[in-house]
Amino acid sequence: MSFENTFSLNGKLALVTGGGSGIGFNIAQCLVWAGAEVVITGRRESVLQEAVSLLGDKAHYLVNDVTDLKSIPALIEDIESQIGEIDILVNNAGINMKKHAIEVTDEDFDKVVQTNLHAVFSITREVGKKMIARKRGSIIMITSMAALYGIDRVVAYTASKSAVGGMVNALATEFSPYNVRINAIAPGFIETPMMLTAMNGDPARRDKAMDRTPMGIWGKPDDVGWAAVFLASEAAKFITGVSLPVDGGNSIGF
Ligand code: NDP
Repeated sequence: MSFENTFSLNGKLALVTGGGSGIGFNIAQCLVWAGAEVVITGRRESVLQEAVSLLGDKAHYLVNDVTDLKSIPALIEDIESQIGEIDILVNNAGINMKKHAIEVTDEDFDKVVQTNLHAVFSITREVGKKMIARKRGSIIMITSMAALYGIDRVVAYTASKSAVGGMVNALATEFSPYNVRINAIAPGFIETPMMLTAMNGDPARRDKAMDRTPMGIWGKPDDVGWAAVFLASEAAKFITGVSLPVDGGNSIGF
């Protein structure tokens, strides 16, 4: 197999949740650059329309709120019947909530867990059924450095992302015998609206983030995008159940 064929995603269809903005948009863009057709989802139609216009002819969008769990089977059926068989699933949609743990309400906790964990499970189950039947597929979870170690004031986020890391381990044992690989990418500090909002425009917090990052620089969304291309490609055909930090060394200590 040639170098190009090993990394090429020609002929593949990818679903990227939350693909209209932030890291998800760049994941979708890198997948398209690698040859894939992509379907992006999110709650804001105008954002998705703009993203598709930038991604080009190989991109499609569907408006979907992942927390509407009942909508998920129909979402997957619609994609498969109207666009094509999903070869690559990137569970990227996620929310953060920065609050002291003792101020987090049950509703806050449920909202984060519903988006970052339960919806990820439901989408993976529905796409997993198709992939297992076809005996091929690659599933990528976007977790976080918060899945690897503790971060203050993000208790629900940390709990949800750590649980997705556990889910990768469990599902890899079930799905891998069917040639369906499942891996996670754990991004460090990546410059996106979510991260900049979490930093609250506070230069001291931005400096602290860089103090915690051995490379001393912010990640770009396409650093995550290219890692997704690798994990989705033939180059990673013997890799499953892995969590890949994309974090400038953040997870190795500081
Ligand atoms: P953004 O807030 O910039 O983007 C989040 C995306 O998810 C948006 O496109 C949003 O679209 C979509 N989304 C959120 N909630 C829902 C929902 N209920 N249904 C459907 N789509 C939804 O975040 P990032 O790009 O920074 O984060 C992307 C992923 O990367 C997340 O899982 C995050 O936890 C993870 N991550 C990010 C890091 C960073 O440094 N930025 C670090 C570690 C992990 P819309 O609002 O239109 O629905």
